[in-house]
Parts: sequence; structure tokens; C-alpha cells
Amino acid sequence: VSAEDDPPGRAAGDPFSRYARRFGRPIESVPQTLRGTDAAPAAVASALGLPAAAVEGPSSFFADFAAPHGTRHVRVCGAAACFAASAGRHLAEVSAALGAVPHSAAENDGGASVQEVRCLGYCYGGPAALDGDRPCAGGDLADQLLGRAPRRNPAAEVHCRSRVPVVTAGIVGGEQPWQTWPRIAASGTSRDVLAEIGASRLRGRGGAGFSTVRKWQAALACPAPRVVVANGDEGDPGSYVDRLLMERDPHRLLEGLAIACFAVGATEGIVFVRSEYPQAAAEVRRAVAEAEAAGHLGTDVHGSGIDLGIRVAEGAGSYVSGEETALLNGLEGLRGVVRPRPPYPAEHGLFGRPTVVNNVETLAAVPWILQHGGDAYAELGARAEAGTVVVCLSERFTRPGAYEVEPGLPIRRIVEEFGGGLRDGATLRALQVGGPLGGFLGPDELDLPLSEAALADHGAALGHAGMVAFDQRLTGEQVLGNLWAFAEAESCGQCSPCRVGTRLGRMLASAADGPGGPAGPALSGPVERRRLVLDTMAEASLCAFGRRVPAAVRSLARVYGLTGWS
Ligand code: SF4
Repeated sequence: VSAEDDPPGRAAGDPFSRYARRFGRPIESVPQTLRGTDAAPAAVASALGLPAAAVEGPSSFFADFAAPHGTRHVRVCGAAACFAASAGRHLAEVSAALGAVPHSAAENDGGASVQEVRCLGYCYGGPAALDGDRPCAGGDLADQLLGRAPRRNPAAEVHCRSRVPVVTAGIVGGEQPWQTWPRIAASGTSRDVLAEIGASRLRGRGGAGFSTVRKWQAALACPAPRVVVANGDEGDPGSYVDRLLMERDPHRLLEGLAIACFAVGATEGIVFVRSEYPQAAAEVRRAVAEAEAAGHLGTDVHGSGIDLGIRVAEGAGSYVSGEETALLNGLEGLRGVVRPRPPYPAEHGLFGRPTVVNNVETLAAVPWILQHGGDAYAELGARAEAGTVVVCLSERFTRPGAYEVEPGLPIRRIVEEFGGGLRDGATLRALQVGGPLGGFLGPDELDLPLSEAALADHGAALGHAGMVAFDQRLTGEQVLGNLWAFAEAESCGQCSPCRVGTRLGRMLASAADGPGGPAGPALSGPVERRRLVLDTMAEASLCAFGRRVPAAVRSLARVYGLTGWS
């Protein structure tokens, strides 16, 4: 979907139609007048032949379904990197320019609607928006949307700063994909593939860092049929490597996914792409068709007797749905809330089948590992954390972009040497590492090595390795408000410590501005109340989202010297 000549606001299928495609029964559209209204779920249920309750659940959960849609629908990123880029101004500017209040019914004359989303993966060039499915980004975002300035869709710089490019090989000029799969399909064994992945010590790059080979072995030990899902629901604001890989090198991902399916004996692979990445979904679909035409997918692949199909499924706007069990719920057409574990997806996953869920960047490393051997991959990086990781630098840097590096190098080198420090002589006030569930580092804390263990010792997490720089234009209170707003908006609401805690946290953060803040004087109360919120969330939340937000808040408060959030 590149269509420069598409009319503004046009999306490739409305959200409900995308959802319906998961059931293999596409409906052309829900009438425009019904979208975002109480009547829409019943109309969709009727079109699909499903009970109303089956559609009511997800339609009230996923942001894309719940958001009112005008004739022109603009999704504006309000997440950390775009917030830092505009110093928090762009959402109000776009709303004023289009005459549309975010998330309210599109009753304005122009029929435009604005939806705040988090994030769009243009963290290197924000603030960003999707006008329908057409991206635009830059400091003059409102003027671009009004046609007063040329539209800009900046391409991300991608660099390799590791000894060899592993996952970025196809972008920076390395090996072509599909070099390994034909040989493995024709004469390889699952045992050989598992041995190489085990030797590589490859870990999940999506944030959890779990051993890839252990996931694969666990699924293989359970009875078929099995399935492998490539998790392209890259929700961490500040990270955009998965979008770049899916848009610019989708065949490498597909080859990694094919090898993973082979290793665990799966005949079905699914690439799950978040709805905020429409171009990525289109590119992966195109690559699947090309791979089928080339004989890499389909029946009797490369004369091996192996049947393998890969399909693309799209999300509908939910950060938590990137968590693997919540993602599986979404794929089953349910609300995208996390499942209690155990059982783990490798034992009981999609529709009860043993399911491996691997992040896009993780799978993109697999072809290189099988080509060069697991030992070669394990020699990269640090002793405890092998391989490479792609770090994404945000718009505030002089040289923003995606950098493939080896774990262990000092973060200061990434910030100052690779990123060139902050642009326009700005002063680095705080560095957010690993997204909203990661943590914040101050300018004097950058000598830490890029490592999960070192960051954990510092109350932070590597996450998906996004790095968002905040400069002196924003106060700590403003950054804190953005973090709590993210947490409140993206909490899945399943457990009360997180659902209520994030709302209270946001209100207490607003109240810190004074009695005139939105929370009013009644909640501008004692430090103990804030501590109670943080402690309750950290100890009693059901999943990592609610448990990690307090650590992120505390690290932010430490860096900015905010009192009352310890
Ligand atoms: Fe949902 Fe938050 Fe509870 Fe996780 S911690 S299950 S995101 S409400």
C-alpha cells in the first residue's frame, strides 16, 4: 500500500474487514456510518454468522474497532519518541488542524477523525501519523496533513556496527535470503537444525529473552499439529526494527519462519503484523506470494515431501496483544488479554495446538545461523549474551536509525559515537531504554554495557532495544505524564491492580502539577498513596506489563529527581 495517489484517509480495508479475514469469511466493509458505534459489532456478527457476543468482546477491546471513524481517519502517534520529537505539541496541533477531537465521534464538517495510537514505528523521524494507510512524519505534521507542506515519509537509516550483519544483511548489503532453506528442506533434519540453534545461544529479541531452542524443543515434544507464529506486533515505542525487516527484507523473515516450522514439525506458519504497520503487512503478503511461486512454500517443498503454508494476520491496535499468549487470543478472535501460564504456548497454544511464538528479529537471525553455524553466531557479542541486537535510535539523535551491534559495548558509544549525540545542540536529559517497560538512564549513567543483566541491575530492561532521547525541552513531570498515559491506555484491563493502578497513577501524576490538575485537590495527596499504587501494581499484577510499569516510573523519577515516586 504505497499509493501516493490514494485519497487522504483511505485505508486498505476497515478494521472490521481485516478482523473478519481471520475467519476466512471476508466482508467488504461495515457501513461507514456504523463504524465506532454500538451497532457495528452486531452488523459484523450478522455478516459473519457469529453470535453477537463473539464480536462484542474484541470490538470493545481493540482500539481500532472502538475508535470512531470519519470519512478521513488519521492515526497520530502519541508515544514516547514522537512526544519527545515535538515536545508534546503535535497531537493538539493535528487535532486543531483537522477539527477533530481524538477518539470522539466524527461530527465535524470535514468528516475527519483522529485516533491517538502508540506507536507507528517512525520513531527516527517523528512526530508521525497514518492518514488512512499513508504515513507522514516531521515537525510540520499538521501542515502536511492539511496539504500546506509536502508529505514526507522518511526512510530509516540502517547500519551494521557488529563484526558481520546478521539480521540486517539484506538491508545493508549482505547475503541474499533463501540460500539455506532449499538444502534444509531437501536433506536436513530437525535434530541438526535444533543443534545449530542451541549452539548459537539465540534468545528472543522481542523483550523476554527466552532461549529459542528451548521453545522449539518444548513444542516438538508435544503432539502435532503444531504451528509457528512470527510476532510482528512490535509495540514498544522507540523500536522499529521489525517494521524495517518486514518492509525491506521480508524474505529473510519468511526463510527463518520456514526453518522454524521445519525444526518443530509444523506445517503452518503465521506472520502476525500489527495494524499500525499496513505497509509491512502488504510487503510480507507480497513476499509470501513470491516464495510460493519460487517453490519455497506450498506442497512438497523442494521435492522434500514437506507441505508448508504461511499466512499473514493483522492486529487491531493493542500493546498488550504483543505478549505471546494475548497474541494467540487475538488470533482466535478473542479479546487480546494475556492467558495464565502454565500451560505455555509451546504445549497448548493456538486453538490448543503446540505453538512457537518468535519475534521477527529473532527469526530473521535464523537463516544466518544455519548458513554459518551456531558457533559462529555465539562468538559474536558478549560471553553471557551472544549474537547481535538491533538498537533503534529516536529522532532526537543527530544520526537516528537502526544499528545492528553486539551486546556488551557501552551504551555511551551508541549514543555519542553512532547516534552523534543530540541534534541541534540539544542537551540529553534522559534516555529511555527498552520501551515503556524498560527504564530510564541519566546522562551520567551511559557507561553501562548494553546487556540485559547490566540494565536489570540498574532497574531497567533491554526490551526490544529501542532508545528514546529526551532533551531539555520536556520536564520530568511531562515525561512521567506521557508514561502514565501510555500505561493507562494500553493496560488490557483484565486485572484490577493494573487496570485501576494505571488510572490512579495517571491521575496522581497529573495532580503533581498542582490542585488545578485534572485529578483535582482530592488526589494530590501524600507520597504514601503513590507508593501504594506502585507496590500494588508491581506485586499483584497478572502479567509483566503491570509488574514492570512501576520500575519504569521509579527509574524515571530517579533520573529527573522527582519526589514521591520511589
Ligand atoms: Fe492486563 Fe495489566 Fe493485568 Fe497484564 S497486568 S493482565 S496488561 S491488566
